[in-house]
Amino acid sequence: MLRVVVLGAAAGGGVPQWNCGCPVCLAARTKHPELQRTQASIAISADSDHWFLINASPDLRQQLIATPQLHPAPGKLRHSPIAGVILTNGEIDAVAGLLSMREGWPFTIYAHPRVLAILKSNSIFNVLSERNVRREPIEVDAAFEPALPDGSPSGIEILPFAVAGKSAWYLEGKVHPAGDAGAGDTLGLRIRDKATGKFFYFLAACADATDDIKSRLAGAPLVFFDGTVWRDDELITAGLGSKTGQGMGHIAMSGDTGAIAALSGLGIDRKMFLHVNNSNPALLCDSAERKTAEQAGWQIPADGTEIAL
Ligand SMILES: [Zn+2]
Repeated sequence: MLRVVVLGAAAGGGVPQWNCGCPVCLAARTKHPELQRTQASIAISADSDHWFLINASPDLRQQLIATPQLHPAPGKLRHSPIAGVILTNGEIDAVAGLLSMREGWPFTIYAHPRVLAILKSNSIFNVLSERNVRREPIEVDAAFEPALPDGSPSGIEILPFAVAGKSAWYLEGKVHPAGDAGAGDTLGLRIRDKATGKFFYFLAACADATDDIKSRLAGAPLVFFDGTVWRDDELITAGLGSKTGQGMGHIAMSGDTGAIAALSGLGIDRKMFLHVNNSNPALLCDSAERKTAEQAGWQIPADGTEIAL
């Protein structure tokens, strides 16, 4: 059985964001704590004993405290069920949590060479000694099976594929440590339990639901998809920033080319938005935008939501 725990569903900054007084952040901080969400990450396991994180958010420490499945096993002085971390991009909200995993527990980081190059070029990540923390390159369109700590197979097959997106925001206008050409900065994942054949998709960042993406996702039992913004220009119109969703590498939920329209009619059983920005009105439970999303079959999961496939 493949188990999935949503550790966090929010985009960078979380809900509420430390310096934000927008309506969603204000409500999350005051009358509606149920709106609070940590930054996007999920945990997966095929055997319920060993877990892999998909991305390591800056809120990882808080997420691990809140998730009993990821606590040290009873009776062990030092232990973690976390066997590895699979990175789908190099954004701060996907990699900063690695710095909270620096206390000597061995695990493996799986990432595209472009993302590994970013980690390598930032000496702060050397705090994860390569003696304990192996860095394993993964390739676009090449399925791999992350290993358990004793080297045995995990029973989980992961197929990374290229998704339209941007390289990390902090590299904008700078030379990418891996050079400017080539895909791999933004990956989608198909995650499959080898024993049962059950699978789901994870695309927490996606700038464009292309025909390729749509044909991959058609008929899937479960899809986690980029829900950063409701409208492409919502940060600008709300006076919160100067960037569009597209400018940050994220598709909007709404509109003719948005995620809701693009993924409708594909026969996907469960559709969940992840990486939802605090500016997004669909976070508000009684908003018209939330109703529209729900009527189209979408959920915005609460942190801690567990799904078994
Ligand atoms: Zn806000």
